[in-house]
Amino acid sequence: MLKLWLAASPVDPEVPSLLSAPLGSSGFTLLHAAAAAGRGSVVCLLLEAGADPTIQDSRARPPYTVAADKSTRNEFRRFMEKNPDAYDYSKAQVPGPLTPEMEARQALRKREQKAARRQREEQQRKQREQEKREQEEQQRFAALSDREKRALAAERRLAAQLGAPAPLVPDSAIINARRCWSCGTSLQGLIPFHYLDFSFCSTRCLQDHRCRAGKPSS
Ligand SMILES: [Zn+2]
Repeated sequence: MLKLWLAASPVDPEVPSLLSAPLGSSGFTLLHAAAAAGRGSVVCLLLEAGADPTIQDSRARPPYTVAADKSTRNEFRRFMEKNPDAYDYSKAQVPGPLTPEMEARQALRKREQKAARRQREEQQRKQREQEKREQEEQQRFAALSDREKRALAAERRLAAQLGAPAPLVPDSAIINARRCWSCGTSLQGLIPFHYLDFSFCSTRCLQDHRCRAGKPSS
C-alpha cells in the first residue's frame, strides 16, 4: 500500500514534507514509527523515498535511536553506506555505514561461533556419556561378591598368561579396567593402595575390605 502510494506520486512536492512531518504530539515521523515497530523493510522504503532520518521527535530522538532491534537499525546503516552524503548522519545518530563486506564478515564470524559452540556441546555430551558409562560399570563391579570378583580377576590373569586378550564376555569392560576391589572406582590415573593381591582407591576402601574379609565371604 505504502509502496504503491509512494511510487504513484514520486514527484508530488507534498510527499517529502509528508514523509518527514510529525504524526502527533510525540513528534514521531513515519520513519520513527516504522523504526519503533521494527519494520526494517518499511524503514528502507521510507529512506529510499526521501524520509529524513535527522528529524527528531518531541524528546529530541532521531528515528535510528528508537529502532526496535538491530536488524531495523542496520537498515539505516545500509542506507548510509549507499548514500554517504545524503544527510548529516551524526545528527541522525547513525553510528556508521554497514558495507556488504562488513555484513559478510559478521555472518562468517557468527557461523564460526555457532560451529565452535556445537563442537563444545558435542564434547560435553560425549564426556557426560563416558562418565555415565564409567559410573554404571563401577556400580556393577561393586555389586559383585568377592567370589565373583576373584573369578573375574582369575579369568584376566589366565587370559594374560595365555597371551590372549581378555574374553569378550559382557563383563569384559570390568575385567579390563583396573578397579578398586571394594567400591569399583577405576584406578586409572590414581596411585592405588595394595593389600595382598588386591588394589584399592583409598585406605578407607582397603579397611572396608579387611572388615568384610573378617566375616564369612559370600
Ligand atoms: Zn574404592
